[in-house]
Amino acid sequence: MHELSIADQIVSMVELEAREARAIKISSVTIDVSVLMEVEEDNLLFCLNTLKKEYAITADTVFIYREVPVEFLCLNCGEAVIVSDLTAPVCQKCGSSSLDIRGGDSIYIAEMEVEMDESRSTEKCDAGE
Ligand SMILES: [Zn+2]
Repeated sequence: MHELSIADQIVSMVELEAREARAIKISSVTIDVSVLMEVEEDNLLFCLNTLKKEYAITADTVFIYREVPVEFLCLNCGEAVIVSDLTAPVCQKCGSSSLDIRGGDSIYIAEMEVEMDESRSTEKCDAGE
């Protein structure tokens, strides 16, 4: 299942990042998902909301799904192009169809809001798991 493995990667990634930043809780995570990934929003959010329970740090995290368009670079005129109709992508400037994908073709963690434990004055250092 496509969405489950993506959700698993997202949760492990934000959990690790938050832990390294010494956060106690992740309030929200905004995920930019390319239209090319063919991810079902409901399905991905369901997987995220199931997997987040594995960690205390993500147990109350709100996941926000954002679909992002694909960015192309026109090989004819060099213009950066955002294409909404992927069945026949053309450059809006010169009309050329020689386009190269430049971005928006993957999944990115766009934003992450964390809560820090400000009451804890001394840092505890754990030696591994
Ligand atoms: Zn062009």
